Amino acid sequence: MAYLTSAPRGTKDILPVETPKWQYLEKTLLETAGLFGFREIRIPTFEHTELFSRSVGDTTDVVQKEMYTFTDKGDRSVTLRPEGTAGVARAVLEHGLLGDALPQKVSYNITCFRYEKPGSGRYREFHQFGVELYGATSPAADSEVLALAYECFQVLGLSNVVLEINSLGCPECRKQYVQALLNYFNQYRGQLCSTCLERLDRNPLRVLDCKSPEDKKIAAGAPSILDYLCDDCREHFREVQARLTAAEIPFRVEPTIVRGLDYYTRTVFEMVHTAPDGERLVCGGGGRYGGLIEELGGNPTEGIGFAMGLERLLSTMIAEGCDFPPEQTCDVYIASMGEAAGVKAFQLANLLRSEGFFAQCDLMGRSVKAQMKYANKIGAKYVIVLGEDELAKGEAVLKSMHNGATVSIRLDSGFSDAIYEEIMAHAYADLEEVAEDLGLNLH
Ligand code: AMP
Repeated sequence: MAYLTSAPRGTKDILPVETPKWQYLEKTLLETAGLFGFREIRIPTFEHTELFSRSVGDTTDVVQKEMYTFTDKGDRSVTLRPEGTAGVARAVLEHGLLGDALPQKVSYNITCFRYEKPGSGRYREFHQFGVELYGATSPAADSEVLALAYECFQVLGLSNVVLEINSLGCPECRKQYVQALLNYFNQYRGQLCSTCLERLDRNPLRVLDCKSPEDKKIAAGAPSILDYLCDDCREHFREVQARLTAAEIPFRVEPTIVRGLDYYTRTVFEMVHTAPDGERLVCGGGGRYGGLIEELGGNPTEGIGFAMGLERLLSTMIAEGCDFPPEQTCDVYIASMGEAAGVKAFQLANLLRSEGFFAQCDLMGRSVKAQMKYANKIGAKYVIVLGEDELAKGEAVLKSMHNGATVSIRLDSGFSDAIYEEIMAHAYADLEEVAEDLGLNLH
């Protein structure tokens, strides 16, 4: 029965000590996207299987091998979302959002599910933050989405990020390119892996994505899509780059990026972080998609978006020593001795909480000594001890755990105001100390 206390392979609990970092990450990303006009959308965890097979593409690894698909009790095939773009497109169509003022901009924070081999940053359940922008065909939209991707890394304190960009052209230029790829790879049919031979017949672009070192070597000599772009696609790609340059956003043209999913046209990109030891980590990717909305039954509408993996972002931030906000700790712990004092402690702790303080009192029936030990362990900033004497006098001592300073506080309706004043006075005194150390004059 040991498996009952082990999470399923490829999944991970996020423990209370870790959640403040996650909350900060998610909030920062949503707020940053908000500054660019993206508003959050929340979509279901599962969708009709066909949504993914039609939009992500049934020749992709995601659809062929990695989907969590099952038949529900109503005999419908449903799938846990492997990514966000398809579900968000379905939602904006269902609710007519593309009939509103365009461009329509939405952001999302979701869990995704892929049956992948777990390990080295790969999970079967993982988190993505993403955005989608609909209705703008101009290169300005590509540049704005790329600028947002870059800004997200800046705000999080990850400066060593480069956007690697490519253009996959439109269906017209892609047709010629695919033929050129076929001609090239056909010469190596004897050397390619069996999956790539299959890919060659179904979708030759996928061969460029193969992870096998031998196939990678062959792919390195393949023709570049950039030599096959039509005039319009070339101009579009040129303008995206011109805007990035104007905004001083670092990017590199990388003609081998094809992305794993089928719906992309024109601009595609990945966000690559390089660690001090030179290790590259792809933290996210995205691109423009032409046919997706139409494929799902909507009027032809282009979209562009990206998704970043939050596990990778967070582990990179921790490895790079990025700043996180300090964790919230208990403001006041009210220790008590005896039943009547226990009730009073409960009443005062509630009063403090209703005023926005983080307050705790004893729930374990412990001795005062043990309660103080606990207050210390949880990092309480102040403690109050209530006993018979304090109740009789209607007054108790508030003690700072930081420097041991004490002050008497009345246990009446002005209690929380008095605590607030004390905390502020101590905070000011601490600030004065720091200022003095730094040779600054606060007055
Ligand atoms: P994709 O939709 O495959 O382009 O993925 C976008 C980002 O999600 C990737 O760059 C990763 O950061 C993250 N990601 C994709 N698959 C996984 C996975 N199995 N486990 C953790 N993160 C993932």
